[in-house]
Amino acid sequence: MIEIVSQERCIGCDRCVEVCPTSVFDTGPGGIPVIARVQDCQTCFMCEAYCPVDALFVAPQAEPVEPGSPLRDEAYVTAAGLLGGYRKKIGWGRGRTPGALRAVGPDLPRPTPAPPRKEHR
Ligand code: SF4
Ligand code: SF4
Repeated sequence: MIEIVSQERCIGCDRCVEVCPTSVFDTGPGGIPVIARVQDCQTCFMCEAYCPVDALFVAPQAEPVEPGSPLRDEAYVTAAGLLGGYRKKIGWGRGRTPGALRAVGPDLPRPTPAPPRKEHR
């Protein structure tokens, strides 16, 4: 779920407000978005992917993290490279290499190849 909007980094471009499929954000004072409807967050990471200045952090959990969690602490999240970390992983942003293979996500099991079929004579 969306956890952090960095007031320090945000430039008020409204991209996150526009791309959020469930209208989680409202534009706040000074153009900085506020998380107005966190319960509607789908953890889709689109806001983080589109933020041009890596000002957002979406935690991978589908529920809000516990109060006091380091994942709500901007200084911790920044130091850990997690602020805008999803965008970085998918290679969006100046000087990065886009590529689906860099996307974060669960390691999905791959189907076992079927054994070769016997030839009939
Ligand atoms: S993660 Fe998706 S649903 Fe949640 S605030 Fe960002 S864009 Fe909206
Ligand atoms: S996309 Fe980033 S810079 Fe733009 S308003 Fe949202 S948080 Fe601020």
